[in-house]
Amino acid sequence: MYYKLKDDFRLRGWELLPTGVVRRLSGNVDFLPPDIYRALQKACSSIPADSALFSAEEKKMLAELCEAGILEKSEVPAPLSDAQKYRAYPNRFLYSVHWAITGNCNCRCRHCYMSAPTRTEALVRAQAQEAPTLRQPTRTEALVRAQAQEAPLLRPPSGKVNEPTLSDCLDVVRQMEAAGVRTVSLTGGEALLRRDFFAIVDALIDADILIVTVMSNGLLVNEKTLDEFERRGLRPEFNMSFDGVGCHDWLRGVPGAEQAVLRAFSLCRERGFPTGAEYCLHKGNLSALRESVKLLGELGCQTLKVNRLNVEGEALGIADYAITRDEEFQTYLDYIPQFYEDGAPLLLMLSGFFCNDGTDGFEIPFVKNEEDEDCGDYCLCGHARNYMYITAEGAMVPCIPMGSAEGGRQTRTDALMPGQAPDAPLLPRRHFPNIRETSFADALRDSYYMSFIDTRLRDYFAHNPGCAVCEYRNRCAGGCRGRVAGNKDDLLARDEDACAFFRQGWYDKVTKLMKKILLDVR
Ligand code: SF4
Ligand code: SF4
Ligand code: SF4
Repeated sequence: MYYKLKDDFRLRGWELLPTGVVRRLSGNVDFLPPDIYRALQKACSSIPADSALFSAEEKKMLAELCEAGILEKSEVPAPLSDAQKYRAYPNRFLYSVHWAITGNCNCRCRHCYMSAPTRTEALVRAQAQEAPTLRQPTRTEALVRAQAQEAPLLRPPSGKVNEPTLSDCLDVVRQMEAAGVRTVSLTGGEALLRRDFFAIVDALIDADILIVTVMSNGLLVNEKTLDEFERRGLRPEFNMSFDGVGCHDWLRGVPGAEQAVLRAFSLCRERGFPTGAEYCLHKGNLSALRESVKLLGELGCQTLKVNRLNVEGEALGIADYAITRDEEFQTYLDYIPQFYEDGAPLLLMLSGFFCNDGTDGFEIPFVKNEEDEDCGDYCLCGHARNYMYITAEGAMVPCIPMGSAEGGRQTRTDALMPGQAPDAPLLPRRHFPNIRETSFADALRDSYYMSFIDTRLRDYFAHNPGCAVCEYRNRCAGGCRGRVAGNKDDLLARDEDACAFFRQGWYDKVTKLMKKILLDVR
């Protein structure tokens, strides 16, 4: 009898994490203790299972790996296939990438932070750049231009023509494969708008990178799209924005968008594709929150993230629809009891304020650590440590909200470095790397991206002396860098939402409320 690594598994290692067992086409990576990993590698070298070369301790470890479904017994020697053999990636481990494969979109959202142009607009602009006076505009081009001038909703294209070519995209896939990325979420603009979308999907499948989510406005989530995924054995989550019953079209700028996205949720439910949603809270849809959550729950949507309208990008034009932080928090406080009255129809994340865990538990995302934890050595954001967002322009940043630090907003001139006091002389601004200029693996070895995500809380506290002595310092840890990125020049500034949550009594209010609700539920 011999040991055999099950066909689905591969041996992989990264800088600082050399003992990975990866499951093909799933998000799973287990990092084993070095002695167990050594025993596993030995077991995969065709030594008979009863050989005296295995110590009693190793046999015990291998029995546990069999139980865990990683190893199995084989009557004949079972050497590793080429794909299974150990592969060392020359960079730090990065679990997942959110990847904007286009900056173009078929919606005209009033709050689009990236000012995504439509395909027609992009085409018109590209042609205009190439041949400014050679020909008369076509009927469609003329219409787009006329609408842009006449109707503020159909705004003139203000984003860049920023759809990477297919060959650029295939290169990114190769680079992600070479760096050992495990999963990807495809986003845009509107990712499904690309005519070569499934060529990118196929390249990801070939590279053994699992597509876990497609972020979409839902307009192109139809039978044909789902058929194509199903044919490839993939069932990603469709994460679609939904901005309120009776209010969606106004924000999205496309009549009929609400009907289309609700149809997309239904279709995904019928076809067994998971769905999630995001809700942008503003004055016009505050009162539609309860009805919208109920409806999404009925449509099988499993998760909903709610955040207030962020006044940047196109949203500067609808700033009078924005609600204040206090209005946002009060809305959540008023809504939470109704959410439980309605049977907690889905997993709900209300900004950093509240997140339910089924019907009888909850978390507060603003709470990052226990107050008595010694967390100076922790990273600024544990989530961002394992994820990356690649913008349509190729900037590699820690997460989607931080795209504006390198993408849409160009007003930042300098950034303070981790550990610098606020009054220290500014160093020239450092940029996050760009995949068009740097290799992915290099960005994960030595770059501003790496130094930023490796920044420790002790550096944050040195930079923010007020936080260092604050009674909530560990629990709050200065909040979320993504929330800061949209509004501040200093990526290490404190997050004012998190600060208000703790210091203005919202933490006490929501924990008190939840104590009462959970007592009633139980
Ligand atoms: S769907 Fe997204 S990318 Fe498209 S216009 Fe709306 S916010 Fe922008
Ligand atoms: S509550 Fe405010 S002062 Fe205290 S740690 Fe958080 S951001 Fe800093
Ligand atoms: S910085 Fe904020 S938005 Fe970005 S991953 Fe961390 S918690 Fe999320």
